[in-house]
Amino acid sequence: MKKSLFRKEITSVKTLVVKVGSRILTTQDHQKRVSNLVDDMILLHKAGVRLILVSSGAIAHGMKVLGLEKRPSTIPLQQACAAIGQNRLMQVYQDYFSQHKIPIGQVLLTWDDLRSKKRYFNLRNTMFQLLECGAIPIINENDSVGVEEIQFGNNDILGAQVALLVQADVFVNLTDVGGLYDRNPHADKSAVHIPVVSQMSSSVHKMAGDLKNELSVGGMATKLKAAEIVTRAGMFSLIGDGFDQRLTDVLTNDKCATLFIPSDHRMSSRQRWIAFTGQSSGVIFVDEGAGKAIVEKGKSLLPAGIIEIKGNFKAGDKVEIRTRDGKLIAGGLANYSAEEVKSIKGCRSSEIAARLGRKSFDEVIHRDNLAVL
Ligand code: GLU
Repeated sequence: MKKSLFRKEITSVKTLVVKVGSRILTTQDHQKRVSNLVDDMILLHKAGVRLILVSSGAIAHGMKVLGLEKRPSTIPLQQACAAIGQNRLMQVYQDYFSQHKIPIGQVLLTWDDLRSKKRYFNLRNTMFQLLECGAIPIINENDSVGVEEIQFGNNDILGAQVALLVQADVFVNLTDVGGLYDRNPHADKSAVHIPVVSQMSSSVHKMAGDLKNELSVGGMATKLKAAEIVTRAGMFSLIGDGFDQRLTDVLTNDKCATLFIPSDHRMSSRQRWIAFTGQSSGVIFVDEGAGKAIVEKGKSLLPAGIIEIKGNFKAGDKVEIRTRDGKLIAGGLANYSAEEVKSIKGCRSSEIAARLGRKSFDEVIHRDNLAVL
C-alpha cells in the first residue's frame, strides 16, 4: 500500500501552506535543509497537493551580504537588508524548482494588502490563478516597505493569514523544535512533547514560554497564536521540526510535530476575513437579547438591539459587535453608516424608512456578513 503523506488525523489535503523560518534557511548546513525542503515539496506537488510556501530569510540573507551578525533593530536597516536579501532568497528557490520545471511566483505582502477587503479578494484571485497554473506561490512580508503600522512583524501570523486566504486544509509551521513541549525543551531536557492539541486554552498558551533566538522574530507564543487563528477558522495546523527533520517527517510522524485540531466551525471566506483579518472602523454595542440572538441563534443584527455606537464607519465597513460591558462577540459588515445607525438605534425595522427617509435593509448587519468570535 502507498505510504500516506499525512498523519492519520488528516484525511484529505488539497491545499497546504508551509511556513519556514530564517534559522532553517540560513544557518549552518542550510543548503542540505533547503534542498530537502524543496524535494519534499516537489513530492507533494507531484502527488497533486496545491502548495504555498511562506518563506522568511530575506533579512537574514541581506544581513549576510552586509556582514551584520545581529538582526538590525532599526526599521530602515531591516528594510535595506530585506531589499538586498529577498532576491537572493528567491534565486535559491528558482535554482531548485526550475530543475523540475515547476514555476514559482513571488508575492510580497503587508497588512494593508489583507485588511482592505478589495485588495484581499483580489489577492485571493491571484493566488488561485497561480495554483491553477501549477505554480508554487512563495510569499514573504514586503519588509522593504513595511513601516510599523503595516508590518506583520513575523511570518507566523502572515502564514496563518495566507492559510485563511487560500482556505488551506493544513498550515504547517516549520521551526527548530518538534512542536509544543510542556516546558522549554532547549532549557529542560525532561520537557514532555505534546503530539496533539485538540483545543486551545490558556494552559496550552502557558506552555509556550518565550523561545527565541537571534534570527527568529516570533517565538513559540506567536506560533501558537498563528495555530489558534487557523484552527478557529476550521483548518488543521502543525508546528514541527524543520531543522533536524524533514517536511515529510513533520507531516507524518507525531514525534516531530504537534498537531492542532480544527474547531467544527467552518466559515466562508468572507466570514474569515471579517473574523480574523479585516480592520474594524467602529464598534456597535448591543443589548443582551441581540447578543444572544447573534451568538446562539445565528441571527442578523437589527436596529432594536443596538444600544450605542463608536467610530465613524461607512456602509460596507467592518465593525465590531460588543456587549454592553464591552465583550467582543462578533464582527460584521454594516449595511448603514455610523450616522444612520445612530438615528435608527433602538427602533423597529419598520420605522427605519421614517427615520432615514429611505430603507435599504431591515438589518444593520445581515447574518451572512456576520462572524461570531
Ligand atoms: N520577513 C522576514 C524575512 O524574510 C522574516 C520574518 C520572520 O522570520 O518571521 O527576513
